[in-house]
Amino acid sequence: MTERLLRILIVGAGIGGLTAALALLREGHDVAVYEQAPRLAELGAGVQISANGSRVLFALGLEDAIRRVWCEPAGKEIRLWNTGETWKLFDLGAESVARYGAPYFMIHRADLHRVLIDAVRALAPDAIHLNARCASFDDDGRAVTLRLATHEHVTGGVLIGADGVHSRIRNILVGDDKPEFTGCMAWRGLVPTEKLPLHMRRNVGVNWVGPGGHVINYLLRRGEIFNFVGVVERDWRVESWTEMGTREECAADFSGWNHDIHAIIRNIEQPYKWALLGRTPLTRFSHGRVTLLGDAAHPTLPMLAQGANMAIEDGLVLARCLAAYGDAETALAHYDAARVARTAKLVQGANDMARRFHNPALADATGAKAYVDAQWSEATVKQRYDWIFQYDAARVAV
Ligand SMILES: Cc1cc2nc3c(=O)[nH]c(=O)nc-3n(C[C@H](O)[C@H](O)[C@H](O)COP(=O)(O)OP(=O)(O)OC[C@H]3O[C@@H](n4cnc5c(N)ncnc54)[C@H](O)[C@@H]3O)c2cc1C
Repeated sequence: MTERLLRILIVGAGIGGLTAALALLREGHDVAVYEQAPRLAELGAGVQISANGSRVLFALGLEDAIRRVWCEPAGKEIRLWNTGETWKLFDLGAESVARYGAPYFMIHRADLHRVLIDAVRALAPDAIHLNARCASFDDDGRAVTLRLATHEHVTGGVLIGADGVHSRIRNILVGDDKPEFTGCMAWRGLVPTEKLPLHMRRNVGVNWVGPGGHVINYLLRRGEIFNFVGVVERDWRVESWTEMGTREECAADFSGWNHDIHAIIRNIEQPYKWALLGRTPLTRFSHGRVTLLGDAAHPTLPMLAQGANMAIEDGLVLARCLAAYGDAETALAHYDAARVARTAKLVQGANDMARRFHNPALADATGAKAYVDAQWSEATVKQRYDWIFQYDAARVAV
């Protein structure tokens, strides 16, 4: 049966669901997105989009809108938690474009979310349905029926679960494997850049590494905002964008860390706490006419900064598969073939990175130097990142 243009149901209007919606609308499909939230407002802080993600977003026509709100860093550095000793990680800016054909940029999640919403609505003003929590679905082999918590139901040719780490679609599809706490929690916060000492207002991303924790900082929104993510190995299991903490509690988690870290923490407007969760990697994302993408398919630790990038890649590859194959089930099988191994490798890479960032060898400055020199040598960094950034979701075989 040929079903070139489909009615496609997407659950979840996060970065993954919206990227998929846009890619599918551009292929001519009839797309409906069901989002449980009553309004579209991404909370949280910054997100790093590497060349593999920016290539997709630009291919979807979002370059101008993104450039208006992004911050393109000159490079990234590794810094030691206590002494602040600094090593170059890699150059970005023009170097990323020259090496990978696309930029590496930092963006406020709310800004990226807004760009995606506007692009989806420009093609289909009524595509996004709010207050629409998905409760269950049935796939009878010819169509999928999605049931909402309101007892309404809708029918389509394909159902995409883009409903995040607690995915309801995933639980129905593959069983009730609950997300598990990874042993790490993240502090997140924003600082008006003007509040920081001059020497910290540099347009570089910094990965601070230390025994049992790390900090990521970079500029956002044309440099006006300074983004802080501080990860510690601590038992905190609430995963919510709105769980607030205090500056004092955050500072206590980074006791003994460099004064630059404390200058950031002192100026955070409102620190948020976020439990980092993981799930057992899946060997397939698709069953019949139903599939998963983004954190619903492959939640990851943030240490490689690839969760949103993977969700963005998923969206374009899925749209290409549905364009290339005459029937939905075949298309979804090809999507799995293109995506399962890469995303599993990235999730494993992030787990390995967590061990590297938090390594006990970083405790004292002499041992740390030898460790950083070995773990972040130019050749090692190239081997660790090139395959990630070079990936071209618009060209990869499907
Ligand atoms: C501290 C931290 C830093 C990070 N930094 C980076 C980074 O620098 N770069 C990067 O690439 N990634 C990063 N990530 C990861 C990235 O944030 C996620 O991977 C990405 O946001 C996942 O997007 P998603 O669309 O799959 O899921 P989500 O953003 O979780 O969206 C899921 C959506 O589905 C909706 N939903 C859920 N259940 C239902 C239901 N039953 N019915 C209807 N709607 C539903 C939710 O309300 C939500 O809107 C970071 C993560 C953390 C925690």
